[in-house]
Amino acid sequence: MAISRRSALRTSLLSSAGLLLAGGAATAASAAPAPAPAQAADPDAALTLLKEGNRRWRTFRQAHPHEDARRRAAAVEGQSPFALVLGCADSRVPTEHVFDRGVGDLFVTRSAGQVLDESVLGSIVYGVEHLHIPLIVVMGHASCGAVTAAVEAHESGQVPEGHVGYLVEQLLPVVEATPDSGDDFVDDCISANALDIAEALRADPELSGHVDSGDLRIVAARYELDGSAVNFLD
Ligand SMILES: [Zn+2]
Repeated sequence: MAISRRSALRTSLLSSAGLLLAGGAATAASAAPAPAPAQAADPDAALTLLKEGNRRWRTFRQAHPHEDARRRAAAVEGQSPFALVLGCADSRVPTEHVFDRGVGDLFVTRSAGQVLDESVLGSIVYGVEHLHIPLIVVMGHASCGAVTAAVEAHESGQVPEGHVGYLVEQLLPVVEATPDSGDDFVDDCISANALDIAEALRADPELSGHVDSGDLRIVAARYELDGSAVNFLD
């Protein structure tokens, strides 16, 4: 009896969830065009999908694709993400939200200031070599605390100790190479850092062949907290 009650309850909950999902889909359909399925895409098609998703996000017309039960069940069998995003750990820049994407769409690597180290590089190369991802976006963002800390270290000559000091040291070269423009200096360093990391990835011996053959495109971008837009820098 208990089992049957639980079973009935579960059926009822699933029905409610189904109704909610159906309702959500109907709302999304009226608010935004249905997103294309995220299968293996070429670099330009992948970039278009990201731009369309960010347009939905910044205009509050998200479609919330690929969050339903069918997609989650399909994800058990494997993944075929269409883009890799290397972003900052900052909680104000949630990658799937920013591009209005769901389960299995994006291969995401995050570290403060998008700092590259061996584990980040290993993750990226895995995504390209084994998952055949055609697009990498290196995404900095406005008001990045890691870049700001590197600018402060550059100005004061004091590098923080410990693991945070490691991050700052990785960011110092691009800060030192960026002309000091006064009030815009931190902002300029944020853009320069994203561009610099994208360039480093394009030059990486394990990635450059894919770039040269046209299988892989690597672009730099920055996310503006004010307005929620992703601006592509190159
Ligand atoms: Zn940041």
